Amino acid sequence: MAAQPEPSLILSFEDARHLVEEHAARLRPRGKELVELLDSAGQVLAEPVAADRNLPSFPRATRDGYAVRAADLAQLPARLEVIGDIKAGVAPSEVPVKLEAGQAAGIMTGAPAPPGADAVVMVEYTSRAGNTVEIAKGIAAGDNIVPAGAEARRGARLLAPGMRLDYAAVAVAASVGRSHLLVYAKPQVAVLATGDEVVDIDALPGPNQIRNSNTYSLAAQVVAAGGEPVPLPIAPDEPGRLRELITDGLEADLLLLAGGVSMGKYDLVEQVLAELQAEFFFTGVQIQPGRPLVFGRVPSDRDRDASGTAGGGPGATYFFGLPGNPVSTMVCFELFARPVLEALAGMAPRKLRFLRAQLKAELNTKTGLKRFLPAILSGEFEQAEVELAPWQGSGDIAATARANCYLVVAPDRERIAAGEWVPVLLR
Ligand code: AMP
Ligand code: MG
Repeated sequence: MAAQPEPSLILSFEDARHLVEEHAARLRPRGKELVELLDSAGQVLAEPVAADRNLPSFPRATRDGYAVRAADLAQLPARLEVIGDIKAGVAPSEVPVKLEAGQAAGIMTGAPAPPGADAVVMVEYTSRAGNTVEIAKGIAAGDNIVPAGAEARRGARLLAPGMRLDYAAVAVAASVGRSHLLVYAKPQVAVLATGDEVVDIDALPGPNQIRNSNTYSLAAQVVAAGGEPVPLPIAPDEPGRLRELITDGLEADLLLLAGGVSMGKYDLVEQVLAELQAEFFFTGVQIQPGRPLVFGRVPSDRDRDASGTAGGGPGATYFFGLPGNPVSTMVCFELFARPVLEALAGMAPRKLRFLRAQLKAELNTKTGLKRFLPAILSGEFEQAEVELAPWQGSGDIAATARANCYLVVAPDRERIAAGEWVPVLLR
């Protein structure tokens, strides 16, 4: 007898999310590879990156002006003798040996401050005549000079493994001379759309058929989350073929199914997964869109790489059975599948982050479910405003494409007044 999923495994949004995070925390990526720095953006760093020397390596002027001893500017205006001009990139031999009392040196942003100088006066407050500079404004010691090593000491860790490389991280790697970086191999994520009514996008749909959008939206989400999508052929609502395709999908590091799951009864997808000895962690979540949502893992004895911990741990592959309605598929991926994928990609865990925006128009809804409704965030500068994108329910892809965020409504809210600050999940 095949195991059957517990029909009562319906969780609140928070419980389901925590459960997914707990499982994700135990997952490890498949392997590492060396990539060129120029190709590294968006990849997950698999090694620490350290400062190869003090940053800055010399006391660096942050303004164009005059390097001075701040104490010389106690009486204003001050007249100082200019003993040289220091450009960025000068040889150490061209930097004055020492600035004595009553002396200044012209200096450019990025140039080394000479010994003895403790501040740089901006050129705007100075006037120069020959070898004399007159300074009209006082300054505190330390101003406009970054001391050597103040940003980082040689050997200090600047980037930690598990971070996704963005442009700032790439800048750090470049600044310490790393032309190549070790990153984690991207997880392979099988994507399986199901449904007799669903046809390939190259085929002409019959009158009661729909084109397969879920495979494509999921593939795009997988890429954005740092994985490599492996799209499978559309599975019909027929157990034999479905089982073949699910078995193929379980060869990947993670399997995403769309459609064929529904709450309260054992839909085909759950049935086939149960036959494959799946362990179900939940079969529904109290959210809209997307109530039927299945999370579990299937044991497998396929060979693993040396680390032996890819996929769902030694010998198991995680899967999500996402609801087939396209907006539900998208939202459920972001809320639940993404943390598992990110963990397989080697990313350090991170919490879902919400921002707040002012609701533009009163909102009335039913209680009982936590809602993530496609919405439009607008407003300039700090005045974030949000309004629902008018939609025809969780099949309305066009409305979702016009939206740019999800407005989050707590399950106990029936009415939210215009002007209230509400949580928003960015897309
Ligand atoms: P299901 O979860 O299988 O009951 O699917 C719910 C609804 O989602 C179906 O009636 C379809 O209209 C739609 N749907 C299912 N799969 C897809 C897909 N791959 N692409 C677009 N829409 C889909
Ligand atoms: Mg279906």
